Amino acid sequence: MITVVGSYNTDTILKLERFPVPGETVFVQGKLISHGGKGSNQAVSAARLGANVSLVAAVGNDERGTIALKFLQQEKVDTSCVKVKEAQTGSAYILLNGQGETMIIVDRGANYELVAEDLYQCLRGDVLLTQLEIREEVVRFALKEFNGLRILNPAPAELRSLDILENVDILTPNEIEFKEISNSDDMLYGAEVLLKRVKKAIVVTLGENGSVIFTKHKSVRIPTIKVRAVDTTGAGDVFNAALALFLERGYDLEQAAENANIIASISVTSYGALGPKWEEVKELLQEK
Ligand code: ATP
Repeated sequence: MITVVGSYNTDTILKLERFPVPGETVFVQGKLISHGGKGSNQAVSAARLGANVSLVAAVGNDERGTIALKFLQQEKVDTSCVKVKEAQTGSAYILLNGQGETMIIVDRGANYELVAEDLYQCLRGDVLLTQLEIREEVVRFALKEFNGLRILNPAPAELRSLDILENVDILTPNEIEFKEISNSDDMLYGAEVLLKRVKKAIVVTLGENGSVIFTKHKSVRIPTIKVRAVDTTGAGDVFNAALALFLERGYDLEQAAENANIIASISVTSYGALGPKWEEVKELLQEK
């Protein structure tokens, strides 16, 4: 089983011709509301691939919270550890301009009400997958207490202290997060610094260039397939979900990253942040 400890947000995507400047009013050209939050995206993407997934998260006692629970259940995510808080369900407002650039505003709402005590009896399974859209102390607690393989996707890359990495087996930043956390533009040097804390490996995702794995002994580039990208939103979430799934199934890290690349690359060929179903990708994957 994979346990995901993370966020749920309702995403409101507002398409604009251009961003407003301070004091200015602009009209939206299109509006889309969808399920989001890295915790939810990663849990649903793993479940779509056939994983047994439990999400540990918090939603509000509002209508959006009820809709979120129903959605997660429809996607076959175990919601017995999704807490309902006296708060508003988290929201993210994504402004998208004509150049495809985004500005994102997050109202954390119930996500910020999730506390370490809520994790009681919820840290089960073989693989833990967590991110940084909830309180850092909750992530810290989950990593410390979990008895199995611990993956931290450090997004957004805001860490009060690097001590948290001492309870991480595999760290999965994208290129920008990697530079922020390692405080270095030199990948090899940055990896060396972080591997003094991270237990097993760092897997850096590199967009169309796939990913690279750093361990104490070597670094390995894992290329991905060439695709026509139409929407890269959530590519990192799909990658993390797939990586957790293959590691849970006993693949070694290189094989797991190879398959996670393929699945994440397929996901950018269609709209939305969630990943493909197992049936849509199984023929493209490497066997163990
Ligand atoms: P996001 O923030 O949009 O969720 P990210 O920045 O966290 O994404 P990326 O490194 O951009 O993550 O992408 C994750 C993985 O998705 C890559 O390792 C790769 O396998 C796949 N991917 C992303 N963009 C492309 C692309 N243009 N073509 C092929 N594969 C891609």
